[in-house]
Amino acid sequence: MDTIKKVVIVGGGTAGWLVAASLARQLNILEDPQISITLVESPDTPTIGVGEGTWPTMRNTLKRIGIDETDFIRECDVSFKQGTQFVNWHRLNADGSDASYYHSFELPHTQWRTSPGPYWHHLKSELGLPYADAISVQPEACRGHFAPKTMATPAYEGLLNYAYHLDAGKFAKMLARVATEELGVRHVSAHIEQANLYEDGHIASLSTREAGDIEGDFFVDCSGFTGLLIDRTYGIPFRSVKDKLFVNSAIAIQMPYERPDAPIASPTLSTAQQAGWIWDIGLQTRRGTGHVYSDDFISDEEAEKQLRCYLGPASEKLDAKYIKMRLGYREKVFHKNSVAVGLAAAFLEPLEASAIFLVEAACNMLGELFPRNREMLERLEKKYNDSFIGRWNSVVDFIKLHYYLTGRTDSDFWIENTRPETAPESLKEYLDFWQYYPPSRFDLPSNLEPFVRESYEFILYGMGYGNYQYDNSARLPHLEYAKENFARIGRMRREVPSQLVTNRRLLDQLKDFRFQSI
Ligand SMILES: Cc1cc2nc3c(=O)[nH]c(=O)nc-3n(C[C@H](O)[C@H](O)[C@H](O)COP(=O)(O)OP(=O)(O)OC[C@H]3O[C@@H](n4cnc5c(N)ncnc54)[C@H](O)[C@@H]3O)c2cc1C
Repeated sequence: MDTIKKVVIVGGGTAGWLVAASLARQLNILEDPQISITLVESPDTPTIGVGEGTWPTMRNTLKRIGIDETDFIRECDVSFKQGTQFVNWHRLNADGSDASYYHSFELPHTQWRTSPGPYWHHLKSELGLPYADAISVQPEACRGHFAPKTMATPAYEGLLNYAYHLDAGKFAKMLARVATEELGVRHVSAHIEQANLYEDGHIASLSTREAGDIEGDFFVDCSGFTGLLIDRTYGIPFRSVKDKLFVNSAIAIQMPYERPDAPIASPTLSTAQQAGWIWDIGLQTRRGTGHVYSDDFISDEEAEKQLRCYLGPASEKLDAKYIKMRLGYREKVFHKNSVAVGLAAAFLEPLEASAIFLVEAACNMLGELFPRNREMLERLEKKYNDSFIGRWNSVVDFIKLHYYLTGRTDSDFWIENTRPETAPESLKEYLDFWQYYPPSRFDLPSNLEPFVRESYEFILYGMGYGNYQYDNSARLPHLEYAKENFARIGRMRREVPSQLVTNRRLLDQLKDFRFQSI
């Protein structure tokens, strides 16, 4: 097995089909008869069926695969996502009203030529606005259920930065259609019973119940929590992060809208609960909702009760799907001639919706550095493993930040989350530094960081961290510019309703019209 010609992907969930479509496009298998991609999917092991929030990177991923944005929106019940609104994470208001802040997708650098954080701190009382509102109009657009673009904006471009909310089942089906009908991927519906190894431990073939043995040179394990190759075949140890991130269960309910013309929310709504949080995602035809919690702190029955209480009486007769989650990642995911991607590789809880983004990151790295022969395979293994372990640790830091900075003391779950022993050392180091200095370009070490400095700022400032005093303007060299820019953004905020249409209206228009393709 010197040249790598046959790629075999195990599993047909979001991860499997994204890898299949991305690799097929990047390796251009239609034009290159030397290389083939086969995806093997069990007819009777269901996909996880959740995972409805994406990152803005998805626009580029879909564009590169060659999917038309209008078709995608129509086929996958898609709506536009403009970030996350965190409700009651920092504190519980004494009067029962919601305390919330935004982590929006519009990063400061689109509107700012300098980092606005220090200036916002300096002018906070004068401006009278939360950080996210002061630096961009996106929270205002979210409050009005406005779309990030109009019919005049070309496909995949935005007036405001955006990602998508989507129906996970429909998304996998669309990717499957494109991969098999347009990009030359072979689909085999068969349950894999075992992997057969060469003497040196490389995988030679997969034995299936329905389709005999399937040979390959390079195998991508996208078998979800089963971890068919990474776990069952190779037994690569799992590094749990449950000492840092406590949630281990989820209950999902698909909730119809009360009226067909109900507004569609622009952000993912994440509302903190007694022992976790509830996600609420507005698609075109329904809401996708769920309670993520730790069953060490509340029972499954109590968690379901809390979710139904959040959703109201209309949820009473709706089915609830229970999911148990083990948070952590494999000590290595690239091993011999196989690599695990998606839930088979890692899962670090749905907060901030990083899982599909990390599948996209895997597609990019595998596509760009695709090993053409065994020598390249051996070289890539360490680089790939180091890169992804770094990313997963960064995700743990960032997710823990949301819990660690809470001021809530109303349940053991929140109190336990703020114990220093439960935070990664790397996060504590950042926070220690950020007590005295606002985050800056000198902080995060890698250009492959999943969460950039600007994302940290939304959470830190949203949760009231950092009280920077600037008693001399030498540390604020662009003060006049910053004041003018805050004022300009204030004027733009007032113009939002006249510049944008609502999500519902734009999605209705897209039933009859198309975005101009680019
Ligand atoms: C509660 C929850 C909420 C989430 N929310 C988000 C979110 O908002 N955003 C986000 O990015 N991610 C989210 N995720 C993660 C996201 O759902 C997954 O990353 C994504 O769906 C990819 O899953 P997968 O394809 O790896 O696995 P799966 O969907 O489980 O697919 C596994 C595939 O492997 C196949 N398979 C298994 N065993 C065999 C076998 N023996 N033979 C052949 N085939 C086999 C199955 O048939 C299936 O096709 C969430 C996850 C959970 C649990």
